[in-house]
Amino acid sequence: MRSANTSFTHVIVGAGSAGCLLANRLSAHPDNHVLVLEAGGWDRDFWLKLPVGYFRSINNPSVSRHFATTPGEGTAGRSIDWPRGKVVGGSSSINGLIFIRGQKDTFDEWAAQGNNGWSFNEVLPYFRRLESFAGPPSQYHGGHGELQVSQLRNDHPYCEAWLRSASQFGLPRNDDFNGVTTHGVGAYHLSIGQRWRSSAAKAFLKPAMKRPNLTVMTNVLVERIIINDRQAKGVRLRRDGNAMDIMASREVILCAGAIQSPQILQLSGVGPGKLLKDLDIPVIIDRPGVGGNLQDHYQMRTIVRMKTGNSLNNQVRNPISLAKMGLDWAIRGRGALTVGAGQVGGGARTEHAPTPAPDIQFNVMPLSVDKPGDPLHRYSGFTAAVWQCHPDSRGRVDIVSNDPAADPRIDPNYLSAERDRKTIVAGIKMLRDIYQQAEFRHLWDVEMVPGPDVRTDDEILDAARRGGGTVYHCTGTCRMGVDEDAVVTPDLKVRGIDGLRVVDASVMPVITSANTNAPTYMIAEKAADIILSQS
Ligand SMILES: Cc1cc2nc3c(=O)[nH]c(=O)nc-3n(C[C@H](O)[C@H](O)[C@H](O)COP(=O)(O)OP(=O)(O)OC[C@H]3O[C@@H](n4cnc5c(N)ncnc54)[C@H](O)[C@@H]3O)c2cc1C
Repeated sequence: MRSANTSFTHVIVGAGSAGCLLANRLSAHPDNHVLVLEAGGWDRDFWLKLPVGYFRSINNPSVSRHFATTPGEGTAGRSIDWPRGKVVGGSSSINGLIFIRGQKDTFDEWAAQGNNGWSFNEVLPYFRRLESFAGPPSQYHGGHGELQVSQLRNDHPYCEAWLRSASQFGLPRNDDFNGVTTHGVGAYHLSIGQRWRSSAAKAFLKPAMKRPNLTVMTNVLVERIIINDRQAKGVRLRRDGNAMDIMASREVILCAGAIQSPQILQLSGVGPGKLLKDLDIPVIIDRPGVGGNLQDHYQMRTIVRMKTGNSLNNQVRNPISLAKMGLDWAIRGRGALTVGAGQVGGGARTEHAPTPAPDIQFNVMPLSVDKPGDPLHRYSGFTAAVWQCHPDSRGRVDIVSNDPAADPRIDPNYLSAERDRKTIVAGIKMLRDIYQQAEFRHLWDVEMVPGPDVRTDDEILDAARRGGGTVYHCTGTCRMGVDEDAVVTPDLKVRGIDGLRVVDASVMPVITSANTNAPTYMIAEKAADIILSQS
C-alpha cells in the first residue's frame, strides 16, 4: 500500500459531465488543490470528437463501460445493455449530444420536496452560466459559458415532413425546447461547437489543466472512501494493480455517475445494512436509499420504410453522398456529420399525463438501426422513438460483491407501474397517428417496427417490452432530499458523513423530463457555488 504525499483539499471521483465542470470551478480558486480521479483514459480517439462519432464510440470498450440490467418482466426477460463513458469527459464524451434542460415543473417539484434552492427560477442562472448558445439571445440562454451549444445544422426532407405531419396532427411548432416550454415539435439543440463535440473534458477540464492547483489522474479505479469517525478522509484507489490511499483535507466529492456513485458508497459501508453485512462490509450507515430510486427513460422505436432512398441508411453507403457530407462538415460545419442521437422531436401529452405538462418525448432520425452502434439497415429507414418523461417505476443499483471492479446488479424495474405501461402504448399510438397524416403518409410504405401485425394495446405493450431499451438516462440513486432515506442533503452532503458529497446525475430526486446531460451540468455548476460558499 502506498500513500500519496501530495495534499489535496478536494478529491473528485470521476471526470464525467459533473466532475469536469466541478474541477474547473473549484480549481479557479488558488487556495484549493483539486485532484480528479478517473477510471478511463484521456479522450484522444477521433470518433469522440466528431459529433456523429457517437454511433461508433458507444460500443467501443476502450471508452465505454458496458453494464447489463437484470432481466425483468418489463423487458420480456431481456437484459438491457447500459453503456457509460469510461474516459475523461465521462458519458458526455460518448453521448448523443442532445442538449435540453427538461420541463421547468420538474425542478419546481424537486424544490417542493424540500430541496430548497432547486426550483426552476433558482437553477436557471446556473444553466445560463455554463453555456455559450449559438442562437438568438434570450433570457433562457447563456452567451459566455464554456460549453458550446448549437442549433441543429442538418436539414433533412424526411424530418421536415415529419415536423409538418406532427403539426397536422395537432402539435405546435417549438423552436426552442430550452425556452418557455418543451411542448411541441422542432429541432434539438446539440452540445457541439462549429465542427466538434463540446464535451465536459473539452469545455471545462482541459482549459483548467494549466492551473498548478489542478491534477488529473487517469486509469485509476477508486475502490472506496476512507471514513474515520464518520468523517471522509480520502479514498482508496487502485492503479496498475497497486492500492494507494489519497487524502483530502476538505472534501471527497463523488462524481462517478448514477451507477458507480452508489456502488462506491455501498463499498464504503454506506448503504442497505443487510446487504453490506452479507458481503462482509462493515456498516457505517444503514441507509437503504443508497442505490434506490433508480429512474431511466425507457424508449420504444417505430421504424418505417421510406419509398425513396434518401434515408441516411442509403446516403452513407453512397460514396458520392458520403464525400459531400465530409465536405459539408469541413467547409460549412453543417450536415449529417454534425448530428448525434437525435435530430428533431419534441414533447407531447397523452391522456395518462398526471399534470398539464407533456408526459412523452419524441426522438426522430432519418435513419434506422436495430440499436445505436449497430450497422444501419440496408433499406431506406426512418425512426421516430418515444419515451415517457416521468415514469412511476423505480429500480435499484446494488453491489453483489465486495470486489470494486465487479459490476453491480442493476434492476431498472422498467414498466412495472401501470401508468408507465399505458403511457408507452399511448406514445406509440401517437407516433403512428403522426405517420398517417397527409404530410408524411405518402412518403413510406411499410411499418418495419413494431410492424403491421401489432395492433391492439396488449400487442403494442408486448412489442415495447420485447423491443424497447434505454436512452441512457440513469439517475436518482443517491437521491437528494430532507427525509430519513434521502442519501444527500439539498447541499449535496452525504447524510451522516462529514466531508463527503455526491455531485452527479444520481442526486436527482425525480428524473428530468428530457435528456439528462444538461441538468447534470447544472447540478455541478450549482454544487460548485455551494461548496465554495461553505469552504
Ligand atoms: C450512450 C449515451 C448517450 C447519451 N445521450 C445523451 C444525449 O444525447 N443527451 C443528454 O442530455 N444525455 C445523454 N446521455 C446521458 C448523459 O450523458 C448523462 O446523464 C451524463 O453524462 C451523466 O453525467 P455524470 O457526471 O453523472 O456521469 P458520467 O458522465 O458518466 O461520469 C462518471 C465518470 O466517473 C468515472 N468513474 C466511475 N466510477 C469510478 C471509479 N470507481 N473510479 C474512478 N472513476 C470512476 C467514469 O469513468 C466516468 O468518467 C447519454 C449517455 C450515454 C451513456
